[in-house]
Amino acid sequence: MTRLRYCVFCGSSRGTRPDYAEAARTLGHEIGRRGIDLVYGGGDIGLMGIVADSAMEAGAHVIGVIPRALVDREVAHEGLDELRVVDSMHERKALMVELADGFIALPGGLGTFEELFEVLTWAQLGVHRKPCAVVDVCGYFDELRAMLDRAVNEGFIAADHRGFLLVETSAERVLDAMVSFRAPQVEGWLDRSST
Ligand code: AMP
Repeated sequence: MTRLRYCVFCGSSRGTRPDYAEAARTLGHEIGRRGIDLVYGGGDIGLMGIVADSAMEAGAHVIGVIPRALVDREVAHEGLDELRVVDSMHERKALMVELADGFIALPGGLGTFEELFEVLTWAQLGVHRKPCAVVDVCGYFDELRAMLDRAVNEGFIAADHRGFLLVETSAERVLDAMVSFRAPQVEGWLDRSST
């Protein structure tokens, strides 16, 4: 049986609270413990390095995907099972989406937001039907959830599409929710262009 592989997006910093690093450690361990493999941005810094190390410790096969230009800046992790060096940010995201069966964001900055929103928009377009989730550590994503609710209330996001983002407060709950996720029905991106 092929193993599940999840992609984790998270900060290239550790953030100010120790809870963030702790959540990254728990997520990595829990991924490995459940026999799931990991794909992530390939860096050895911030929460990224912590997730990768903990997942490997717990027996996950870990694949990093990093653009050549970031190999030095994000200190490409030398100890991974696989490090794929690509030519651009776009290639990095496309390869991570292709390799993964689902996506999980931990707290992070602009890069994390960008990656999370890209996979959500691709879900909305029917490009993939994979679960997208955040681990809401210390309420870090509260305002983001409120913004999404506002966008629904103001008619910019279809109410059905709000369900594309799973939000749970712990790694364990996120991983449980991902297994039972069924994507809301959307018109496929490719189907639409052919009609
Ligand atoms: P941050 O959340 O800003 O600390 O960044 C987390 C990760 O997202 C890092 O590996 C960044 O290189 C990555 N990142 C930032 N911007 C982008 C982008 N436009 N496309 C793909 N990855 C990005």
